Amino acid sequence: MTTTAALRKPHDVIEAPDSFVDRIAALSRTELTPIALAIDEGEIYPDQALRNLGEAGAWSAHADLRDTIAGISAIAETCGATAFMAWCQNTLVWYILNSDNAALKAKFLADAASGKRLGGTGLSNPMKSFFGIEKLKLKGRRTDGGYIVRGALPWVSNLGPDHLFGTIFELEDGSDKVMFLVDCADPNVTLTPCKPFLAMDGTGTYAVQLRDVFIPDDQVLAAPAMPFVKNIRAGFILMQMGMGLGLVRDCVEIMQGVRPSLEHVNCYLPQQPEDFAAVLAELEAETMRLVATPYDSSNAYWRRVVDLRLRAGDAAVAAAHAAMLHCGARGYLKSHRAQRRLREAYFVAIVTPATKQLRKMLADNAREHPGEHQG
Ligand SMILES: Cc1cc2nc3c(=O)[nH]c(=O)nc-3n(C[C@H](O)[C@H](O)[C@H](O)COP(=O)(O)OP(=O)(O)OC[C@H]3O[C@@H](n4cnc5c(N)ncnc54)[C@H](O)[C@@H]3O)c2cc1C
Repeated sequence: MTTTAALRKPHDVIEAPDSFVDRIAALSRTELTPIALAIDEGEIYPDQALRNLGEAGAWSAHADLRDTIAGISAIAETCGATAFMAWCQNTLVWYILNSDNAALKAKFLADAASGKRLGGTGLSNPMKSFFGIEKLKLKGRRTDGGYIVRGALPWVSNLGPDHLFGTIFELEDGSDKVMFLVDCADPNVTLTPCKPFLAMDGTGTYAVQLRDVFIPDDQVLAAPAMPFVKNIRAGFILMQMGMGLGLVRDCVEIMQGVRPSLEHVNCYLPQQPEDFAAVLAELEAETMRLVATPYDSSNAYWRRVVDLRLRAGDAAVAAAHAAMLHCGARGYLKSHRAQRRLREAYFVAIVTPATKQLRKMLADNAREHPGEHQG
């Protein structure tokens, strides 16, 4: 069984070659391979490719999150930056799908799930605030028919003039938090381009300022936000596995690709493609087990999700590092994808929840649940 096949449901394997994942993988190769370098260099924000992937169903496969993750990982095999945008878009849809707000769903779900409206998530600051790393940056107050919200977020990706993203503000009196959608077309929302990024410069990432933006009730995902966050948080994190799995899979392929010419010396390297294929299989298997029950509210489940996400960041960086060593000089060419993979891999490890946050979360959890922690 190929590693891609391992991510599919058994009946999909039988249905191949026209399974959902195969379609997304084929589309990624045709759409993204020619522009991956330009995305990497920040010359292209691939909005058309994202819309085409949406038409193929890449953002509407949430009935079974295994499909969503397999789709993201198929994209990640070709382009890590686009896999991140795929996660952003899927996360936006995940928020809308899980909201109890019927008016919001009626207004936004179909367009977001089809890719007609692109967007993402500004949950990095809230996620850090929940674990005591920084304070919430957005504040709001109730008004007739909605809320008035102000504040700024330093980085939100997969954005553009008519895009959407989900985030959280705190009521000015500190009494509660509200999760909501920002519509970038609002004249009181300003998108400021960030300084150029490594690897992620084509991801439509902006600093976002909200200047007393009116958020109507049909843009409220959840009030209060915290029970909603508990419900969506495992899916939010597990979908990031797609970025790591696809990247590791391609690193294995890169290492195998140079074997015919460099085996006589690469065999002295301590880590071989088979080692990473084994790690990949283990991570895929655990991902499949955990996404089967994304609403499991037990602490044991949550700890496994956090631990898996931590391992994905470590594995991505280790596999990309090994791919560089296996490739030697050719991997150092700007045109070679090994060096791009290395830069993309670090993003898997630093995007929220970053490696350091995940380690803090596990340490805090062990203190809060000493009986459950096995060391
Ligand atoms: C390319 C890119 C895309 C991102 N996309 C998103 C997104 O779509 N949604 C989202 O919510 N988050 C996004 N982020 C943020 C990301 O998820 C992490 O939160 C971020 O990388 C830092 O996380 P950290 O835990 O390492 O925090 P740290 O870097 O340790 O600390 C973050 C804090 O440091 C301060 N800081 C330090 N340097 C700077 C700087 N140069 N500019 C601004 N503040 C600084 C800020 O106060 C910030 O709150 C993105 C980041 C990058 C680099």
